[in-house]
Amino acid sequence: MPDPTCPICGARRDPHFRPFCSKHCADIDLGRWMLGRYAVAAVEEDDPDRADLAPRSDEDAGP
Ligand SMILES: [Zn+2]
Repeated sequence: MPDPTCPICGARRDPHFRPFCSKHCADIDLGRWMLGRYAVAAVEEDDPDRADLAPRSDEDAGP
């Protein structure tokens, strides 16, 4: 069995924040996850977003 340590900083885990040792480390992990997700989504949806936004901004700028 591996030692029950925080994957972010290696400190002992807190049952309230497992698998992390504190909210701080949980936030760090969440931030990494969100950054990765955003980067992937931005690349995949870049073209459809542009095609969809172009006519809409024209309509808004018309009147
Ligand atoms: Zn930690």
